[in-house]
Order: sequence, then structure tokens, then C-alpha cells
Amino acid sequence: MEEVRHAIFQMKHNKALGPDGFPAEFYQVFWELIKNDLMAMFREFYDCKLPLYSLNFGIITLLPKQKEVKQIQQYRPICLLNVSFKVFSKVIANRLCLVAKKVIRPSQTAFLSGRNILEGVVVLHETLHELRKKKLNGVVLKLDFEKAYDKVNWSFLQQTLRMKGFSPLWCRWIEQIVSKGSVGVKVNDDIGKYACCFVNKSKGEQLVSWSYTPFSGWGTLHFTDDTILFMEHDLEEAKNLKLVLCAFEQLSGLKINFHKSELFLYGEAQSFPKEYSELFGCNVGSLPFRYLGIPMHHRKIANKDWFSVEERFQKKLSSWKGKLLSSGGRLVLMNSVLSSLPMFMFSFFEAPKGVLKKLDYYRSRFFWQCDEHKKKYRLAKWNILSTPRDIGGLGILNLEVQNKCLLGKWLFKLLTEDGLWQDLRKKYLHSKAITHVSKQSGDSQFWVGLMHVKEQVLSFGSFKLQNGKQIRFWEDRVVRRKYVTVDTVLSTVPLNVSFRRALIGEKLIAWHDLVSKVALVVLGEGKDIFTWNLNKNGSFSVSSMYSALVQEGCAPRKNLFWALKVPLKIKIFLWFLKRGVVLTKDNLAKRQWKGNLKCSFCNANETIQHLFFDCHVARFVWNSIFISFGIQPPKNVSQMFGSWLKRFPSRLRTKILLGAAALCWAIWLSRNDMVFNRFLSNSFKEIMFRGIYWIRCWAKLSTEDDKEILEAGCRKLEAFVLEFFGGFGWRARYRIDG
Ligand SMILES: [Zn+2]
Repeated sequence: MEEVRHAIFQMKHNKALGPDGFPAEFYQVFWELIKNDLMAMFREFYDCKLPLYSLNFGIITLLPKQKEVKQIQQYRPICLLNVSFKVFSKVIANRLCLVAKKVIRPSQTAFLSGRNILEGVVVLHETLHELRKKKLNGVVLKLDFEKAYDKVNWSFLQQTLRMKGFSPLWCRWIEQIVSKGSVGVKVNDDIGKYACCFVNKSKGEQLVSWSYTPFSGWGTLHFTDDTILFMEHDLEEAKNLKLVLCAFEQLSGLKINFHKSELFLYGEAQSFPKEYSELFGCNVGSLPFRYLGIPMHHRKIANKDWFSVEERFQKKLSSWKGKLLSSGGRLVLMNSVLSSLPMFMFSFFEAPKGVLKKLDYYRSRFFWQCDEHKKKYRLAKWNILSTPRDIGGLGILNLEVQNKCLLGKWLFKLLTEDGLWQDLRKKYLHSKAITHVSKQSGDSQFWVGLMHVKEQVLSFGSFKLQNGKQIRFWEDRVVRRKYVTVDTVLSTVPLNVSFRRALIGEKLIAWHDLVSKVALVVLGEGKDIFTWNLNKNGSFSVSSMYSALVQEGCAPRKNLFWALKVPLKIKIFLWFLKRGVVLTKDNLAKRQWKGNLKCSFCNANETIQHLFFDCHVARFVWNSIFISFGIQPPKNVSQMFGSWLKRFPSRLRTKILLGAAALCWAIWLSRNDMVFNRFLSNSFKEIMFRGIYWIRCWAKLSTEDDKEILEAGCRKLEAFVLEFFGGFGWRARYRIDG
């Protein structure tokens, strides 16, 4: 029962529903109520008496892979299954995970928790680099499987499971799960007839990718349909390999597209391109080739190989109708989708400066001028936009810093974990520790990237002293000259340290102090343990390193308006207002705009100060606040965001700022109506009602309590405006003029 409960509570919230419409949340909330019924089903399943296929039906929904889809291949099918069925496969998968590490070779990096799919990329990248650097002989074969899972021969799967030593009962369970499912295709909400013989894909995926293992004896890397085989240069051996591959095709039902597969030859093998390509029926490929979408080469990949990243970036941008999005919408899209596009490459290679610049250029163009070709004014510098919000920026992701952090993750793993890819320690470190090595000519691109971020990563962590072999005495944070480890310093008494200059005075006292402390340190057994200081649990996270790097040397200044419950575009408007870059006519004139500088409401010149505070329209707005609530108006923008707000009790501040924001926004919209639409209206009343309207709209985003306070405020303001413009307004008018 605990096992089932665990599986159910592992399921994520908010996922798309299966055809029966019961989400995982249902099973979690009503667990107590349904657990006995569910367990009865599990008992039947255990005895293989449960007709599980009756639950195993799914809906395939087609998601377009690109804009303007014309062909069926351009859709990505997503299959939604019932949670009632997923519970069973989840429990089985959990059990499988217990033994997975034993059954599955470490070269399979995908689909197992704790193994990153990019680890395979590291191994491949480093192997290619090593083959070239050491002038080794070898053949690399990149196999292309025809649609990997839907072709698997299930009896082959059963056979594999049996040979791996799974019990017959277990094999029957698997059979129940993978067989007789059905699926319907959903097109515009119509679900087609349920077709039979659907295989539970996600489960199938895992099992199938695990069953690739028979190619032992050759170095292999698999990721679903991307499989790479390494072998020594040996034509006889190659014939055997071909034979094994053909046998594998026959047994498994999978088909290898040899004409789409590629060969890469190194060393002496390079003299036999014809022999190898005839043998395998595939061509000698050109470098770099793509593995999991990442270009692979034995040398540094060229800037032109980053074109694909730039291209995808640009394509994505042009598919969004930037013009139809608010600045807030563009900001969100930029941070969530756009910025994450190159992340796959970024988490592996250090991006060249030129590429970063280009991507920033695209993003900046998208943010400021949407998709239009007409140049628009950029109101703030890009580097200000990409600083975090709490130090005065807009919080657009800084790609360069993000790149560093993603690479930092590898270093942390190298310092703290063991695994297949960590074998590259042998290649670069020999007997030294990571802390002692630095970049050398001829290192692979991946490694160079790591070395570039090394110092920064080490500066955010600390070592727990064990045997003292990793920790540099001076540089690392236990207690600074180069490359002396703690264990060599402490191996002799008196301490094995010499100074270039003699220590005198305070420094000498400090030194003695240090010596006495060091003398108390007892070195333990085992490796020094590296822990990450930016997270409480001591483990690395990209986000913690990112915020530490972007905030370096900046004292955080809290801008209250980022916490307001208002649409993001309003926050951006407030940010522009605060920075004094809202495009009032004086700001336009600074940008070579030639036009009438007069305020739309009066004869004075339009500036931010005039429009929002000094103009009679603005004064009316602020005075009505004074009359309704007794709140003294702010004198200028900086006061509004600063000392003015501080006068109020903190629980009221956000509501007052929200009100002020709504009124400024209303002034700005009415001003734009006048400027662009030549709209003449009863400005006072219109601005007030506009402001009240926005407060009500935004209040919907607030908590119930705040909503009430805001609504009360709106009613008060409304009453005042009606009174003023009604027959009884003379008194209020008198009060305002006075
Ligand atoms: Zn004016």
C-alpha cells in the first residue's frame, strides 16, 4: 500500500488530463477514500487477473512543432493517458528503478534519475577529442534507427527481460502493461475511434532503450534513436559488428537506417573509407555531426556552428506577433521560451562572445520594436534591462552569466560525484585535484569552458577538510601562493611555508594566530568534501549561482512596485516612469523627434514632472485623492516611489502605490488618446473613471482582504467624482481651488 501511495503522490500536479478526466490531484486528495478499492485492483493485477488493457487507452493530441503547419509530420503527437492506468506503470517503474542501476550499463545516461542526458554528450565529445589528440585509430558509427519504439517486437522485449533475470511473474506484469492498449487521435476536440495495439510509449521507451544493451564489447552510447558505437580500427571486427547489428534488427524488430547512418574515421582507419562505407552501407559523415542536437567535433566548434542557435532564435521571434503583445507579455516570453532555446548548447559549451552579442541584439530588437522593421526608441540600455529587478533592472536573463552557471554545474558534479563521464578526470587531472589544474593548450572545448568558470564556482563553495588533498592552502576557503595543498603544508612541523617577504607586526601576529589554528586541524581519511555555500543543503543549483553572480557588488534596493499585484506591463511602465524614460515629448525631443512640445492638456511643455504632477489635470487627480483620503500628494516621481510611500503604514503601502499607479496609467492613456487619436474629452472625469476602472480590474489579482480595501477606496473616489461633476459640486470645487 505504501508503494502505491508513494507512486500516486509522486505524480505532478496540473498535468493535462487523460481521457477519463481524473487528474492525479483527485487520487491524492481522495486517497483515504479510494485506497482500499485501489489496492483490491492491485491485488488482481499482482495475480495477473486484472484486465488492465481496459484502462489503457489514451488520447493523442497533436501539437504543432512550428507555426503554420501544413503537413501531419509537422505535428508532435502527445499522448494523454488515464491516471488510473499510470498508477500501475508508475509502481512498476519505481520497482524497476531499484534494480535499474545494476541492470543498465552506465553508458546509458538517459531516462534514469540522477543521470543527465548530456552526460553521454560529454563522453562522446571527449572521446572524439582524445581520438584526434592522441592520433588513435578508431571508427565511430552513428546509427539511425527507424522510429524507435513503435516497432519493437514485444516478444524480444520479454526475451531480454528473461535474460536479464527478471522473474516470470514480473514478465507477465510487463506484458499486461504494454499490451492491448488503445488510443484515439484528438483533432479539434473530436476523438476518433480508439485504435487497438497501442503501446504505452513512455514505458516502452524506457524498456526499449534499456534493451539495447546487447552490444557489449564495443563502446556504446545510446539515447533512444541516437546511438553511437565506437570500435577499434579493424575490418574483421567491423564485419562481426555488422553481423551483430543485422541480427539485432531481426530479433528486436527495430530497423537501422544504414543509408542515414554515418561513419567517422580516425587515425589509420582514415585510409579505408571505401571499405568501411561499403561494409556498413553508410557514408563517411562530415564533422561536426549532431548528437542530441549538439554539434560534435574533435576540435573547437566554429562560430558558424552556432548559426543554428541564432537561426532558431530568430525564427521563434518572427513567429510571435510581437506587435500584439504588451511589453509585459514580451518580457515573459523572452525569459521563458526565448532565453531557454540556446540553453541546451549553453549547458555544454562556453558560448563565444560574438554569439552572445547577436542573441542579445535579437532580444533587444524584439523587446523594443516587436517584429516591426521600423526602428523604435530604446528607452534603457540592454545591460540595465538584464540586471535583476531588486537591483534596479528588468530582470531579463543574462545569457553570459547563465552560460557560466550551467557549466558550473558540471564542475560541481566533477567535485562531488562519481560516474562514467567523470572518467575525464583521468584524462585531465591525472593524480592532481581539480583545484590544481588550469587550462592547457589542446584541451577540449568542453574542458576549456569548465576551466574558465572554475574559480568562480570554487569561490561559492567550501571544502570540508578530510585528507586535505583537494584543498589549496591559500586559495580555497578553509583558511593564499599557488597550488600548495593543505596536506603538504600540514605534513611537516614547523609548517612547510615560506614567504617572499618577512612578516612583521600585525601580519606576524595574524600568522601565528593562523598557525595555532592550523595546528589543531586533524586531517581525516577520504576525499575532501566540497559543499555549495549558496544553498542550505550544500548542493549546487544554477539559479543560486546566477543570482550570486548578477548581484555581485550591488546592494539590493527593493522596488516595491515589482511586488504589486498588477499586470507586468504596468510594472514595466512604472519602471520606465521611475527611470524617467517614459516617452513624454521632452524625452522624444532628446531622441531627435521634431514636433510640438506642448502638453496635451495645457500650454506648458510636456515633461514627466509636468504631465504626472504639475499639470492642472494631474493636480486635479492628486487633489481628489487628498479630499477623499486625506493623503498629501507626492511632489515628483522619486518621492512617489520613495519617501512619500514610507509615510504610510507598511500594510497599506502596496494598495496606495497600486492606486497611484492606476491614476498615472490613466493619465498616460488619456494623454495618448489626445496625442494619437486627437480625442477631445472631459479629461478630468475620464481620467478619474479610467483610474478607478483599472484599480477594480487589478484588484481581481489581489487577496480577498486587499480586494475589499481597494473596492472601498474605489467607491469613495467614485462618490467624490460624481459629487464634483454633479449639481452639488461647487463645494468641492471651492475646496480644490482653495
Ligand atoms: Zn499640462
